[in-house]
Amino acid sequence: MISIHTITKPSTFQFHPKRPSRKPPKTLAPIHALLQYNRKPQLAGDTPRVVVITSGKGGVGKTTTTANIGLSLARLGFSAVAIDADVGLRNLDLLLGLENRVNYTVVEVLNGDCRLDQALVRDKRWSNFELLCISKPRSKLPLGFGGKALIWLVDALKNREEGPPDFILIDCPAGIDAGFITAITPANEAVLVTTPDITSLRDADRVTGLLECDGIRDIKMIVNRVRTDMIKGEDMMSVLDVQEMLGLPLLGVIPEDTEVIRSTNRGYPLVLNKPPALAGLAFEQAAWRLVEQDSMKAVMVEEEPKKRGFFSFFGG
Ligand code: ADP
Ligand code: MG
Repeated sequence: MISIHTITKPSTFQFHPKRPSRKPPKTLAPIHALLQYNRKPQLAGDTPRVVVITSGKGGVGKTTTTANIGLSLARLGFSAVAIDADVGLRNLDLLLGLENRVNYTVVEVLNGDCRLDQALVRDKRWSNFELLCISKPRSKLPLGFGGKALIWLVDALKNREEGPPDFILIDCPAGIDAGFITAITPANEAVLVTTPDITSLRDADRVTGLLECDGIRDIKMIVNRVRTDMIKGEDMMSVLDVQEMLGLPLLGVIPEDTEVIRSTNRGYPLVLNKPPALAGLAFEQAAWRLVEQDSMKAVMVEEEPKKRGFFSFFGG
């Protein structure tokens, strides 16, 4: 396991497939980058930072992002509570491998059947990470459950005896209806996950407008499932194109990686893998930027003259 003291400052890490920016052999470049910075990221902003992970479109990677960023934050030494606000299609517990330990949910807390700390599932791998589910699968939400209930919950987390967590991450359902409104209500920042395709971008654009209307000004985007081969063949938009279309600061770029699917099915988030997979490193760096309220640049790096026209999409 990589200690928190050996994790890189993300903005120096380059994914450029042809020109590794560091001296060591190509295969070691990511590991080398990990070892450069002997420090912990500096937590910016007031705590708890309440961050909603949203997208509009379903299946773009919100839950994957919540699980991986949540555990990265814990590995970086910050306390985090992840709330699965995707009530209808709850699956954050599965991705985290915690499904067998969810005995109580927020519904029972609200009914007075259990205490809040009984509904919080502490991760055994990183004890500063906890999961909170709103309801049991297939169970009905109490009438009137909405933004106010979630604000109450966030306040209850702030007032815990052991002190408030550094981060509260809210995994948002797809769509822009009641579940979405509920999930964004207590948040003061948002991570917008999008894939580089036109349908996801249109939804992301719509969601950005709604977040802004709700007073959430700090919105950063993660571009997920990026494929260099498709960008080379001009079959996929580059991250720069995405950024131009959405006009949002970039928190991270996550490559398409079969390891994500494998880790999803194992209930073992990618960022815990040894050695780290490429997408895992990218999530970890996004978490680093989140902590520091930093962003990355999507740079256009021109290829050799014979491949002119192709631009690298990963930024520094
Ligand atoms: P959402 O919460 O937005 O509905 P999920 O996080 O559940 O999306 O992801 C949907 C599917 O996409 C999952 O099967 C997941 O494993 C897969 N996936 C997400 N990100 C990646 C990636 N970077 N590479 C490969 N598969 C991915
Ligand atoms: Mg989801």
